[in-house]
Order: sequence, then structure tokens, then C-alpha cells
Amino acid sequence: MSARLDEKLDLIYRDVLHRNPGEEEFHQAVQEVLETLGPVMSKYPEFVDRKVIQRICEPERQIIFRVPWQDDNGEFHINRAFRVEFNSALGPYKGGMRFHPSVYLGIIKFLGFEQIFKNALSNMPIGGGKGGSDFDPKGKSDDEVMRFCQSLMTELYRHLGENTDVPAGDIGVGKREIGYLFGQYKRITNRYESGVLTGKGLDWGGILARNEATGYGLVYFVDEMLKAKKDSLDGKTVVVSGSGNVAIYAIEKATQLGAKVIACSDSSGVIVDEEGIDLDLLKQLKEVERRRLSAYTDTRTHAKYSENGDIWSVACDVALPCATQNELNGKDAKKLVENGVVVVAEGANMPTTPEAARIFAEAGIAFGPGKAANAGGVATSALEMQQNASRDCWTFEHTESRLHQIMVDIHKSAFETADEFGSPGNYVVGANIAGFLKVARAMDAMGLV
Ligand code: GLU
Repeated sequence: MSARLDEKLDLIYRDVLHRNPGEEEFHQAVQEVLETLGPVMSKYPEFVDRKVIQRICEPERQIIFRVPWQDDNGEFHINRAFRVEFNSALGPYKGGMRFHPSVYLGIIKFLGFEQIFKNALSNMPIGGGKGGSDFDPKGKSDDEVMRFCQSLMTELYRHLGENTDVPAGDIGVGKREIGYLFGQYKRITNRYESGVLTGKGLDWGGILARNEATGYGLVYFVDEMLKAKKDSLDGKTVVVSGSGNVAIYAIEKATQLGAKVIACSDSSGVIVDEEGIDLDLLKQLKEVERRRLSAYTDTRTHAKYSENGDIWSVACDVALPCATQNELNGKDAKKLVENGVVVVAEGANMPTTPEAARIFAEAGIAFGPGKAANAGGVATSALEMQQNASRDCWTFEHTESRLHQIMVDIHKSAFETADEFGSPGNYVVGANIAGFLKVARAMDAMGLV
């Protein structure tokens, strides 16, 4: 039994453990939400009676399928792919596809579960879903990636639709993969259904600012967290883990708002550049050349690269974990607190372990959970769906100002909900309860479905 769960919630949690054996990340995500729902249960007993929480924990539909493909030498390969259609109370299932060797059902379910609340918080009409495959795009040729995507879509297309399920990218899935997936969907269905995928290229239905949205949104959220403390990003030292799409645009926006970002990382090492990360160089290495971060010091010779380095030991005011789940543990959190961190906000999904989150809470550090702080990506996907539905083409400024307002509103809703439920300043409580209530009310209104 979890020490932090009351009796009824503990029973629900134990049932989740029993029904989903071995899916550790999913258990962790469920536990983190259930731990904050105590005060909701007493205020809304009808949700308990009508088993809304149990229903939210059970995906509406889970699809698992084989993806056969051939490499450039003609050799056959078999991967496994997933699409978990978790909850459609607020709109079509919405959430990215992740291609990474670590992917299995437990990862996709944790991501899908998080996505329900994140999408609800964004205040957009989108349900929650997630998908992916254990395929590793690293080291594969464009042709191999294309054949894999075509094979995957040959099964997945029958489950998708702009009013049914709308995938996008996540780790290992960017514009290139979305292009191959969209091309195959269009070919099989004979429909130019732009709204069936988001994160598309700008020439064929994509929206300006979607590429930047998760990172920009994260920094807008951090800006609001600092404003709530009567502080600002100006002059702050920032550390960002990762060097993918979220990290790159978090670095860009933080720099635009006057902060200095001094470190980032990839799966092989850490770069510390005390003069501030050279963003053009980083984009060139990661977005264009798809190279390792170690190449950064070839150009910026004063910067320090350390293989398997410890990014959280770099002293900073603001820490933004933007790489992957459980990348920041209790030891890292202690180090950050010792070094005087003021704000931590999650650009990745669940990058902070439960122990680390507890350490931040106990130390009074403002902590922005991913389902609030990184919601700008999916919110802008919902804007892309709007743009496609209206057969229009929006400007960068229009979309960015919508994104900014959405992040301000998410912050307000998480902040005020935390207050209302007796945990002022606790964004985990605020985000979970605000997201949960929106989904729960919609589910309840629709009867037992
Ligand atoms: N994968 C992103 C997320 O974690 C974006 C999903 C989307 O745009 O649908 O929210």
C-alpha cells in the first residue's frame, strides 16, 4: 500500500497494478495522479460511486501489431507497434508516436495516461492517446525509415481519422517520419485528410510554430512560475537536458527572454558552455547533420564535453529536464537544491522520479510537471487541426500568440486549483486536479460509456 494514498484510492491503485503487471512507468504515472486526488474524492463523491477514476485508468482501446520491413541490404526485420486510445471524453484521441528501442506497452500507457490530463489542461477539444514502436531510427537510412513508416501505417490507418485518432511526433518521430506516415495514409485512403496527423511539413498542411511550440511553451510556463514569485527569467542561468526538438526551442526562447543557457546533453554526454550555448551550432549538429553532441567542441573549443556527464551537477537557477522519463533522480534533485535552483519544469514527459519531485516539494522549489509545462506542443497540434479544418494558413505570430495565451491560462488554472484544494504553490496537485475534473465531468455527463 502506498503511504500517500487513502484507502479507496489505494484499492484503485492495487487494481491497476494487478491488471497491468510489469508496466512500471504506467504504475508510476497513475500513482502520481492518484496521490493528489484525495481532496477531490471527498468533494465529488459521485465520481467515486460512478467509478470515474477506475474508468480513466483503463484505456478505451489498445492496439498492438507487427511491423515487418526490409533494410537496405534486403534483410527482413520485425518490430512491434502500439496505439493506445486512452480517453475520448473531450475529443478525438490525440498524442504522439514514439520510436525508440525502449518502447513497450508500459511506456505507451504511461504516456497516453499523462496525455489525457495534459490535453484537458490545454483547454483544447482533444482526448488522450499515444503510440509508438520499439523501432530505432538511429543509424537507419531515410529509405529504411520510409519503409518502416509505410509498413506501420498500412495497419494503423484503419484506426485513425481526423475525428477519431490524430497522432503526431514524440521521441524519434519528427517531420521526416510524419511525412512518410502521411504519404502512406493518403495513398491507402485516397483522402487528403490533413487533420489526421499533426507536426506536418509547412508546405503540406503543417502550422508555423509547431516545431518550436513545446520548448517555447515550456519557457512561457516557467516565466509565469517566476512571475508568481515576483521574479523573471532575465539574467537567470538555465540548464536544459536533451538536445532534441523540445530542448532546442526551450534554449531559444529562454535566451530570447534574457536567460543564459549554459548546458545541454544527449544520450552520450553533456556540454557545458559557460558563454551560453551556441544555438545555431546546436541546430546544425542536431537538426541538419544528426550528429552527436561531442562535435560541439570542434567549433566551440572553450566548451567542455563530458561523456556520460552529470548535467544536474551544473549549478543553475532554472533546470529544464527535456530528454526522457526518469532522467532526474533523488540524488540529482538534492544536488540541484544544494546549488540553489529556484524553478524546475518538465519539458519531457515524467523526467523527474517521484523521489526527486518529493525533494523539490519539501525544499519549496517551484516544480512544473510535464502535463502542464510541456502542453504547448500538443496544444499547438490542436491549433494545427483548427488551421486544417478551416483550410487556412496562419502566420507564425498568430500561432505563437495563441500558444502564449494557452500557457498563461494553463499556469493560472494549475495555480488556482492548487490553492482551492489546499496546496498553494503545488503545481502537481493543481495540474492533476484541474485536468482530472475536466475529463471526469465530461465522462460523467456522457453516462456509462
Ligand atoms: N508528443 C507530444 C506530447 O508529449 C505532442 C503530442 C501531439 O502533438 O499530439 O505531448
